[in-house]
Amino acid sequence: MEQPMQSLSAAKILALWEAGRTQHALDRALTILLAASPGASRGELADLSIGERDARLLQLRRQVLGAGAEGFAECPGCTERVEFPLDIAALEGRAPSRPPDTLPHYEIESSGDIIRFRLPTSHDLAEAVAAPDSSLALRELVERCAGQANLPNETVEAISQAMLQADPAAEITLQLSCPVCAQEWDLLFDISAFFWAEIAAQAQRLLREIDALARAYGWTEHEILSLPAQRRETYLELVAA
Ligand SMILES: [Zn+2]
Repeated sequence: MEQPMQSLSAAKILALWEAGRTQHALDRALTILLAASPGASRGELADLSIGERDARLLQLRRQVLGAGAEGFAECPGCTERVEFPLDIAALEGRAPSRPPDTLPHYEIESSGDIIRFRLPTSHDLAEAVAAPDSSLALRELVERCAGQANLPNETVEAISQAMLQADPAAEITLQLSCPVCAQEWDLLFDISAFFWAEIAAQAQRLLREIDALARAYGWTEHEILSLPAQRRETYLELVAA
């Protein structure tokens, strides 16, 4: 866990896409981090708080594809598809990094009781998503992190607010406005889903490139993936010329 994250080679992006295709979104996020974290196990990565997980995903996204990104959302007012620029480095700035391998405890006072809790991790979310609805899922999550059952509703609410304050990167909100109808709204930005969609697009582009170069030159997939990206691009231009 101490080692810095590695960027992702073309071969790794393809392997990652294949591994993650049939996975649940929570597992995908870990699969992405695992591919870039030599020496870390899936279990260790699942023990990161969700904010720390997302901070690492943001950092990796910047290493692999740069800081600039293009997001889009449907306007809740007029259903227009609204595109907006994203600055991944600025989003990283909202995510304070904490020392690895330490998941501190916090406490709040609610209805006269002091309640200790820790921050939710991927393990906790995986348990909570099995709940029949979102309010039961929140309760499950909070009670796991507080190590107590049957907490009053207001305590569950208070702890969930305190969790977000303690781990702000776990919920990144973007303020958007529609250029067509001027509607303004807040969008919850999910780096894990966003980055996954980009990885899938990259993988499909790589497969098309391998296909074109293999047909033209008879090279193997391994040979084509070993080419530096710039040289692969130049050969593709030659093939298309
Ligand atoms: Zn609109």
